[in-house]
Amino acid sequence: MSGFIVGLTGGIGSGKSAAADCFAAHGVAVVDTDAIAHELTAVGGAAMPALVAAFGAKAATADGALDRAHMRRLAFADPSARKRLEAILHPMIRTLSAERCRLARTPYVILAVPLLVESGTYRERCNRIAVVDCPESLQISRVMARSGLSEGEVRAIMASQASRDERLAIADDVIANDGELAALENRVGELHRTYLRLSSENAKANC
Ligand code: ADP
Repeated sequence: MSGFIVGLTGGIGSGKSAAADCFAAHGVAVVDTDAIAHELTAVGGAAMPALVAAFGAKAATADGALDRAHMRRLAFADPSARKRLEAILHPMIRTLSAERCRLARTPYVILAVPLLVESGTYRERCNRIAVVDCPESLQISRVMARSGLSEGEVRAIMASQASRDERLAIADDVIANDGELAALENRVGELHRTYLRLSSENAKANC
């Protein structure tokens, strides 16, 4: 069992997934709440029966996965629908992510949570919080290149998330990601050594 949890967060396009991949390359277990949400809503996903019961057959595509475009429109237009969607998904994501952190066999676990700042329950689970940070202009250009969204659409998503300052305020460690990927890898390598030390001290203190 791995008792030491490092929360990893950052705004959209900051490079959370890239940073999580760097930790994974060191052999560290990564538990990603976004990936779990996708699993739960994929074909045969554990959340699909409850979602179809709550929102009707239109919630699913012909093959039985969540119709993301439909649900995104619905959640945007109707805040109560968004709440019902979250009421189904969030407890399942919380339970599954906790279970995976518990089962991890690495000295520490990276718990990647896009909305860590906004969510008290995830913050409470973390021994340490690492925030991936870059200028907002870079977030916008990366997301536009990745997704084809317009600048306005990216800004609207960013406006719905915590601000850069709010994220930095809860960071124990900042992962600046405004340069080359090699610089990100170096910074993650440095933090990996720190987390190995901290998790070992933590394990000894709990003996
Ligand atoms: P997030 O998970 O925070 O939304 P990603 O890790 O997916 O962000 O990064 C957003 C995009 O920017 C991806 O296409 C990723 O490959 C790219 N990217 C991230 N960091 C860098 C970097 N340092 N240099 C170049 N491209 C990067």
